Amino acid sequence: MSKNNDRIALITGAGQGIGRGIALKLADDGFDIIINDIVADPSNTNKGAYEVKKTIEDSGGHAEVFQADISSPEDRNAMIDFVDEKFGRLDLLVNNAGVAPQERKDILEATEESFERVISINLQGPYFLTQLVANRMIAWKQKGKVETARIVFITSISAYASSTSRGEYCISKAGLSMAAKLYADRLGEYGIPVIEIAPGIIETSMTRPVKEKYDKLIADGLLVNKRWGRPGDVAEVVSAFAGGCLDYCTGERIEVGGGFGLRRL
Ligand code: NAP
Repeated sequence: MSKNNDRIALITGAGQGIGRGIALKLADDGFDIIINDIVADPSNTNKGAYEVKKTIEDSGGHAEVFQADISSPEDRNAMIDFVDEKFGRLDLLVNNAGVAPQERKDILEATEESFERVISINLQGPYFLTQLVANRMIAWKQKGKVETARIVFITSISAYASSTSRGEYCISKAGLSMAAKLYADRLGEYGIPVIEIAPGIIETSMTRPVKEKYDKLIADGLLVNKRWGRPGDVAEVVSAFAGGCLDYCTGERIEVGGGFGLRRL
């Protein structure tokens, strides 16, 4: 059965992991989904962006794929032009795409190349994508094309928790956390709520290389909820925000970390 969708959500890095979980949940909520990823192979519907599109369409939803590198200004512009031409509106932007350093290195040895790569994808990309989207959202709202536009930044507990073997990642997420506050402040007068969602330890390809380490930390009591987080745990919060339940929380960070952030004695 076809769902009657009219709200549009763009999720960056949605070909797998947390972004995929968010895309599937929002499609289920009735959004038309724009799946962005840096790699998108239309001939592969078993994995990646086109698998997500197929899964959504098989359940009666609507999805488009737009391949773009969010660290590229040209790609960001092309993606927003696509959204404008195809839909003429955007109700929700989820800044999800992000990377870990290719190699974990102690901050006494880490390289500028890795720093620049991580900052350009995790911070500069979403910061300027949001600038582009925010300006369009203001125009779309003023033309009456969208009622309430909303923006999410997916940051991390690493925005405040030190990991000295991936300093560039922590700095990128701390910066992104401030980006969420800045946009919440600036876009308040236009009635565009902005929140930060900070996942904890979530089972995805990003955390696969450190699975054993985190398995042990979780078993030893690092978290209040003694299990890995799942993409669906993050997607539930995005869904609540997308549905308007958290608009009065604009500018706030919501942690999806199983109690990681709780100080305990
Ligand atoms: P993931 O499984 O690696 O998925 C991230 C997706 O983003 C991948 O499909 C990746 O494509 C894509 N991507 C990478 N660079 C991109 C770019 N420049 N432009 C567009 N897409 C790009 O990671 P995840 O665990 O789902 O993470 C999603 C977000 O949550 C990230 O921002 C991450 O920092 C954050 N987060 C994750 C955890 C966790 O425990 N997993 C915890 C806290 C925060 P390729 O794989 O092809 O490069």
